[in-house]
Amino acid sequence: MSFVTHLECSYTGEHYEAGIPHGLSTAGKPILVRYDLEAIKKAISKEEMATRTEGFWRYKEFLPVTQSQNRISLGEVVTPLIRMSHTEQKLGLTGEIIVKDEGRLPTGSFKARGLALAVSMAKEFGIDHLAMPTNGNAGAAMAAYATAAGMKTTIFCPDDTPAVNVEEIALQGGDVYRVNGLINDCGKIVGEGKDKTGWFDVSTLKEPYRIEGKKTMGLELAEQLGWELPDAIFYPTGGGTGLIGMWKAFDELEAIGWIGSKRPKMIAVQATGCAPIVKAWEAGEEHAPVWENAWTAAAGIRVPVAVGDFLIIRAVRASDGFAIAVDEDDIFEARDEIAREEGFLLCPEGAATYAAYRQALGDGRVSKTDRVVLYNCATGLKYPMPPVNKSVDRNKPVKYSQF
Ligand SMILES: *Cc1c(COP(=O)(O)O)cnc(C)c1O
Repeated sequence: MSFVTHLECSYTGEHYEAGIPHGLSTAGKPILVRYDLEAIKKAISKEEMATRTEGFWRYKEFLPVTQSQNRISLGEVVTPLIRMSHTEQKLGLTGEIIVKDEGRLPTGSFKARGLALAVSMAKEFGIDHLAMPTNGNAGAAMAAYATAAGMKTTIFCPDDTPAVNVEEIALQGGDVYRVNGLINDCGKIVGEGKDKTGWFDVSTLKEPYRIEGKKTMGLELAEQLGWELPDAIFYPTGGGTGLIGMWKAFDELEAIGWIGSKRPKMIAVQATGCAPIVKAWEAGEEHAPVWENAWTAAAGIRVPVAVGDFLIIRAVRASDGFAIAVDEDDIFEARDEIAREEGFLLCPEGAATYAAYRQALGDGRVSKTDRVVLYNCATGLKYPMPPVNKSVDRNKPVKYSQF
């Protein structure tokens, strides 16, 4: 069973029936899942939740899968919260910098959360062919979970997607193609192929269930922090599913009385080479037009246009947060600094959140007393690192004075 009552257009509120596949609403906007929260409140307590062990599936009452045998799992874990204590000290903080390390999930990124749910729901509906555009991590997660579920996948990525991503997709059973364009160009191919191929479009927010998986980041964070949300969350924002999903999670938790009304500032972090949400937020707009010539090496946030733009911006506004862009150089300096000083390897998108934090601390938008959470959305190991060229010749006397 599930506690889903119906689905709803996030823009017009139009209702849709649960139990059948959906794409975008008739208004062309994302569709969200709604639950009987009163019934969830009666069905599960915080104390009982604390005894469960199965990663994000522990939140099953808040998830749409109706038959547990349809749950596709590759060994999800509760991702750890890691204090950046050297950095806190260096910056003279009385607050905390906490990294939520999503790189520990299957396929090495938080895309596992969304795709585990999307694939499990596709299984419930008997769908056997999934397609998506990806900058790398989403494709890898979809290929892995769909293969585990016995489904076929067709995946399109920009031709400069890191080789490791293209290769992991292929090796995990995905039929992957490089496209000479950006992720929105890939998305167009997926959308236009629907009628000709019969594949199901699993693009971010173009089906209702990836966001339900990403929502578990908010449920998990709240539980890990003793049901007391932090002062600010820095989120590397591409399509924005995670930010919107966490915001939805907080609403659901408040509705059942597990948290109070305190909300973190939701901070959407983008790169200056691709910052459509920042531009729209600064202009006071709710929709963000396509960002031309988008570029950043932080591939996960190289998303020139987001169908959920208004949902990101509304959550940022409602939380009294902000949208902020960071320079390419600052992203990689941030990664190097945290690796060198904390022994923690952030991915570039995660590093962007630390760069944004430093910028916001500098201009007073967050304070030294704040407890902030940075999302490290993927393992740093998937990305190119600076070269190393030191060596020792074992056939010559080793110069020990150099070490
Ligand atoms: C997908 C991705 C993002 C962006 O996440 P959204 O929720 O789609 O905004 C950020 N970083 C990495 C590493 C990603 O793979």
